[in-house]
Amino acid sequence: MPNDTPTVGIVSLGCPKALVDSERILTKLRSQGYAVSPDYDGADVVIVNTCGFLDSAKEESLEAIGEAIAENGRVIVTGCLGVEESRIRDQFPDVLSVTGPHQYEAVVGAVNEAVPPRHDPFVDLVPPEGLRLTPRHYAYLKISEGCNNRCTFCIIPQIRGDLVSRPADRVLMEAEKLVKAGVKELLVISQDTSAYGVDLKYEERKYKERTVKTRFFDLSKELGELGVWVRMHYVYPYPHVDEVIPLMADGKVLPYLDIPFQHASPNVLKAMRRPAHAEKTLERIRRWRDICPDLAIRSTFIVGFPGETDEDFESLLDFVADADIDRVGCFRYEPVEGAKSNELPGAVPDDVTEERWAALMEAAQEVSAARLQTKVGREIDVIIDSVDGDGATGRTVWDAPEIDGSVFIPHEDDLTPGDIVRARVVKASEYDLEADLA
Ligand code: SF4
Repeated sequence: MPNDTPTVGIVSLGCPKALVDSERILTKLRSQGYAVSPDYDGADVVIVNTCGFLDSAKEESLEAIGEAIAENGRVIVTGCLGVEESRIRDQFPDVLSVTGPHQYEAVVGAVNEAVPPRHDPFVDLVPPEGLRLTPRHYAYLKISEGCNNRCTFCIIPQIRGDLVSRPADRVLMEAEKLVKAGVKELLVISQDTSAYGVDLKYEERKYKERTVKTRFFDLSKELGELGVWVRMHYVYPYPHVDEVIPLMADGKVLPYLDIPFQHASPNVLKAMRRPAHAEKTLERIRRWRDICPDLAIRSTFIVGFPGETDEDFESLLDFVADADIDRVGCFRYEPVEGAKSNELPGAVPDDVTEERWAALMEAAQEVSAARLQTKVGREIDVIIDSVDGDGATGRTVWDAPEIDGSVFIPHEDDLTPGDIVRARVVKASEYDLEADLA
């Protein structure tokens, strides 16, 4: 790399959606001849992609900006916290530019202004699948931005706006490029995956001489033909999700649904303005498991929401056990600036929230341990994520990267990340498995 190659550093905070934004920004910059620096010292300018979801995430973002200013001095801020420009500028008057989420062009423009691109006809070509920050064998596939729901604890629609779906042919073309580049697992993400295409009235698009509707089922079916693992995140239990379950039973799409239920009590769900009803949801999950017995469900829940009574919380505990929720993420309720839930009566004292959090985690751990015990003795597919001198670590079809459990295969140090191997489960703990190659 010549010494005068303009170089950017990036600090990417927040959710997988923000990570995809960072990848798009880097892809564009690489195509203009910028190099990417892994540290502050080597960068001419540093981009901080922030998260503004919870107050704690905002604090973390502000700290990251402060560190980048101290370490490098030339900082461009973007992402969800970017909508609070004055807050950022009050604290860090030296930042070069502040933009909100998915304003790729503006970020690239700010970088161009801070460090002009070098004109070089021999700059490296950007790989056609773009640049990714995830390991080569899996990739996030973002199918839409924004959200039409108005959950009272959430400010994402205020930050990211209403649902904007990417037409089906574009998503499929991107997925195909990723697969050609060696990706073995596609993680479908959005704010509300099951609402995909509503804004486009399920528009029909041409893809490979076929007509494909911009619709959750149609997209799932097409992705299922690519011959790689396809994992669905942020799905709501709407009736039409039923159609996708047979694709899971047929092995086209992974038998895994990430459904952020957030609660189970009708009172709390109503106060949260969630698009779901626990009774019907339980029935629906049972039907899904009749069709696809291997289905794993991951969910997140909030405890200590304003107005949550002991009874409400008990019904949440029952739901997690009755619905056999395989993987649970639990959050303590936190008021978020600008959220409607801040005005709700019945604040739950911190110590009660804490007790409920511990009780839910314990109940969830019991369910997870019992579910994993049933896998012992079974032969399963494992995708390898990492290998070291002790052996290989991977995941099952029931585990998403970063958030779920893993499978350890001892002594197998000649496997390669991205390999998909058959293994027999020999041991299960609360969250993880141990297996031997079959
Ligand atoms: S579904 Fe609710 S929690 Fe999720 S992004 Fe939309 S408004 Fe926020």
